[in-house]
Amino acid sequence: MIAYKLGNSLYLNITNRCTNRCEFCIRQREIGVGGYDLRLEKEPSLKEIIEAIGDPSGYKEVVFCGYGEPLLRLQTVLDVSRYLKKNYPNVPIRINTNGQANLIYGEDITPQFKGLVDVISISLNAENAEKYQELCHSDYGKEAYYSILEFARKCKNHIPRVVLSVVDLPSIDVEKCRRLAEDLCVELRVRIYYE
Ligand code: SF4
Repeated sequence: MIAYKLGNSLYLNITNRCTNRCEFCIRQREIGVGGYDLRLEKEPSLKEIIEAIGDPSGYKEVVFCGYGEPLLRLQTVLDVSRYLKKNYPNVPIRINTNGQANLIYGEDITPQFKGLVDVISISLNAENAEKYQELCHSDYGKEAYYSILEFARKCKNHIPRVVLSVVDLPSIDVEKCRRLAEDLCVELRVRIYYE
């Protein structure tokens, strides 16, 4: 399943890969979001993604999300976004990400989003690096958390709306996360955890 509908949004699932192994991840389950089977047998090409999108004019937004981390396919995300902006300029584009792209690529990639991405939702997941690593098991260790905060800061220069998200697990101090988001002058979204 490359493109799937949730609410009035069209979600794009472009990779299974991720640099985290979060304990609450849908990848740990047989069937993912909304009953859709999201495990990809192979990563779809640009052409396959565009075909799967079809005409998105009726949707509130198109969201890169999926089963894995979409920014592991940064060039594809940019190419699809460029296509959408050219052909459907009124449909906003959102990326849901683990926020580790600058660590993955070893440089600041956020300027590439300018004019293409309208919203970025970055999973903060915890109020400090230790807790983040316990919960998300990043390949980069605790460094991942500091990089995520820096990534959010940098995104603000190029993307109109930057959102940090946390899952409302009992072990997470949501108020501390809220203060972190306030310090960065970005929104905080609290996601409900479904067991
Ligand atoms: S960052 Fe997202 S895709 Fe990656 S393991 Fe965590 S929840 Fe799953």
